[in-house]
Amino acid sequence: MDDGSWEVFTGYRVQHSVERGPCKGGIRYHPDVNLDEIKALAMWMTWKSAVVNIPFGGARGGVACDPKNMSQGELERMTRRFASELVEVIGPEKDIPAPDVYTNEQVMAWIVDTYSMNKGYMVPGVVTGKPLALGGSYGRREATGRGCVFVTLEALKILGISPQGATMAVQGFGNAGSITAKIASEYGMRVVAVSDSSGAIYRAEGLDIPKVIEHKQQTGSVVGFAGAEELPGDKLLATKCDVLVPAALEGAIHTGNADQINTKIVAEAANGPTTPEAQAVLDDKGIFVVPDILANAGGVTVSYFEWVQSSQFYFWSEEEVNSRLREVMVRAFHEVYNASQQKGINMRDAALDLAVSRVAEAQRLRGIYP
Ligand code: NAD
Repeated sequence: MDDGSWEVFTGYRVQHSVERGPCKGGIRYHPDVNLDEIKALAMWMTWKSAVVNIPFGGARGGVACDPKNMSQGELERMTRRFASELVEVIGPEKDIPAPDVYTNEQVMAWIVDTYSMNKGYMVPGVVTGKPLALGGSYGRREATGRGCVFVTLEALKILGISPQGATMAVQGFGNAGSITAKIASEYGMRVVAVSDSSGAIYRAEGLDIPKVIEHKQQTGSVVGFAGAEELPGDKLLATKCDVLVPAALEGAIHTGNADQINTKIVAEAANGPTTPEAQAVLDDKGIFVVPDILANAGGVTVSYFEWVQSSQFYFWSEEEVNSRLREVMVRAFHEVYNASQQKGINMRDAALDLAVSRVAEAQRLRGIYP
């Protein structure tokens, strides 16, 4: 540590499936990181890649630490130590990490460097979500939010709601949440409430999202944004709106609050924000849930585009990335929606059914070695 003391951090990397391609999945830094959480997230990645039909399996990683109270130097040393342990585990043909909660492009840059220095040559394809200057992809930073908006637009269409003026509330104003809010407002939606770990803000006429992003960059939180009312953080989920976007951590919508949810659509930018019991409550209330493995698959989709570009040392324009992303997300949405209609099941079960079938088919075709 900066003060000369030593600290031991526990890190995890879980590889859940290699049936359809190399493992793929983010690395998070958070005090609550534990093996069970990382195992669950690794499995989610398998289904997510399968639901949007990109040739990846699932993995996930994390380090139990408190990144908010660590200096850049401490984060760099911890990241490099963790990456050194992973050199034989990860690789562009094997397992490709990416950013997740409280990790970012800089963390990916340190992993690229640590891995490449061990190999003796630059290996940009070992991670995605890296800076553009190291072979990152245009559109990657915005991909999860943009993908979430693409599927939200399809859900609005099905419910016959015009995006112009449709209201949205977003829990969690980090990468996934703030970009979803920004792009949704570019499509004419009115983002009335947003929150982060410090609290929530509300403005019935709609928040000026680029200004809220600026405010958060300057002050570290959305709280205190001029012209907005403050809400108790836990009230955000009960905001009356057309689209509710949980974009913080898992388990946000549970039996203790599900009956207060007052929205027509839940678009799950976060992974696992709705507990299974709460899903049943939302079903009873007739709320259209776009499940996590579909709603936030934009990130892994553009990660796949980034990996393809890195493998070929070739770059696509931002327009090309965004239009390919739209194509993948809209196709996947309708495949899931059609399956849900045909089988009479909700969107979450349909997405899982489609994803598990694809992985099972790959496993069946490959058979068992030797
Ligand atoms: P991030 O660290 O950029 O943002 C997380 C945000 O959630 C922060 O603003 C934090 O203050 C807020 N938060 C934490 N606890 C909260 C609480 N109790 N109430 C309200 N806000 C709270 O992380 P991110 O990358 O945006 O990830 C958010 C979620 O989206 C995670 O579930 C992650 O797995 C998922 N996700 C992210 C990506 C991606 O590309 N970034 C892709 C797929 C899924």
